[in-house]
Order: sequence, then C-alpha cells, then structure tokens
Amino acid sequence: MAPGVTLASFIRQRCTAFDDNQVCPKCAELIEIKNRSEARKIPQRSTKLCTLCQNDQDAIALAAKKAKAAELERQLVEYVGKQLTRTVDYSALSDGQALLLLALDRAVTPRLTNGGFRVGDCRGLAPRYVGDFMLQLREAGLVVDNPS
Ligand SMILES: [Zn+2]
Repeated sequence: MAPGVTLASFIRQRCTAFDDNQVCPKCAELIEIKNRSEARKIPQRSTKLCTLCQNDQDAIALAAKKAKAAELERQLVEYVGKQLTRTVDYSALSDGQALLLLALDRAVTPRLTNGGFRVGDCRGLAPRYVGDFMLQLREAGLVVDNPS
C-alpha cells in the first residue's frame, strides 16, 4: 500500500459489497452497499435500485432532459424569429401608446429603434409602474421581447 492510504480505503477501492437481504425492486438483483449501516438484518425489497437499473434510469432521465432542453431551444428560436419579423402600423396607435413610446424613446435614446435595452434601462420612462407601462407596450406588440 502507498504511504498515507488506510486499509479501509484500500479495500473500498478494490471490493464491492452486496447485501443478501436487499434486492432491486426492478430486476431482483442484490443491492450494492457502501458501509455496514446500509446492511439490513432481515430480507426486504430495497427502496433504491441496483447500480445497473439506476444507470439505465439515469440515462433515460438524461435523454429526456436533453430532449426537453432541445425543444425549449427550438421554441425559443422560433419565438425570437417571430418577434423580429413583426411589423407595427404606427398610424393605428392610440394617443396613450404614442405618448408611452415617445417617453420610452427619451428614456433609452437612441436604442428604441436601433438597438436593444432592458426593462431596467427604462427607469426614465416614468417615476413609478415602469414594468406595467412596459407590459402595456409589449402586449400591444409595440416593443419586441427578445429573451437572448
Ligand atoms: Zn435492478
């Protein structure tokens, strides 16, 4: 043994222990245990899966997570694409919307029409309720929301 290595860790690196009293609920194989406190005195079905079944389950969960992330990314790209192709008919604006847009233009000049800005940049829009005003503009389709 190398100096500084305890006998217990030396054995733990080379040996695998299985409890005869615990079986996997899925495949009925013996359950691997890491220490004496995990061993059971009477035979019972384990609440955890054996190593192989756990690896299979983890692989399925990982694949599902990756598929979900890919789907989310696809939806995000589609959403951003739709947002960027929207057009606004400024002649159809209400007076309130026009006033809000003018105030927003002053608050974030010159980024309203030729760049991006964050809601936090719009503090100059109004003394209070900036988020509500921005929500009105977003819901009317006058401000494009780009998550990226
Ligand atoms: Zn199993």
